[in-house]
Amino acid sequence: MAIEPAHPSYVHRVDAELRISFVSEAWLAFASDNGYATTAGAELGRPLFSVIADEETRHVYQLLIERARASREALQFGYRCDSPERRRWMQMQMRYLADSDEIEFASRLLRTEPRPYMPLIEFHRHQPASRRVLSMCSWCKTVLAEHAWVEVEEAVMQLRLFAAETMPRISHGICPDCSKRLHSLESA
Ligand SMILES: [Zn+2]
Repeated sequence: MAIEPAHPSYVHRVDAELRISFVSEAWLAFASDNGYATTAGAELGRPLFSVIADEETRHVYQLLIERARASREALQFGYRCDSPERRRWMQMQMRYLADSDEIEFASRLLRTEPRPYMPLIEFHRHQPASRRVLSMCSWCKTVLAEHAWVEVEEAVMQLRLFAAETMPRISHGICPDCSKRLHSLESA
């Protein structure tokens, strides 16, 4: 069952070859607000996976896309899309559009919370990065610290990153909780 969005949905669609076939004005504006200024012209035809380097994340996307195709119902799941100054809880609704053989991704913002500035998650970082690589979950934005996946602030404390001169590189992946949650996702 579809939910009525309180905020505008940020919508993009992919065609059967998983190339971007549509982006909404709100999607472009949201991308631009997040330091990724782009145009519909630049996005259309771009492979969905051109921006997803991580193998596991691709796999989960692939799985969800297959599930949306096989189902008449929309798939819904929560995820985080944080900025350096805000935690942002989002909800994704994915559905198959049979007429055009497209998959539609409609995201909306559920709530946000301010945070102290966190350079680690700057969208485009220009500072030199250290050799250290941190794993971040693409879906809930937790980071693998010493023994567990924790909020970025917690990881910074545990790993004493505040004392480091350079920030580590971020490698995106998926945490065990999100892997379980997304693999067992039922149609809404
Ligand atoms: Zn996660």
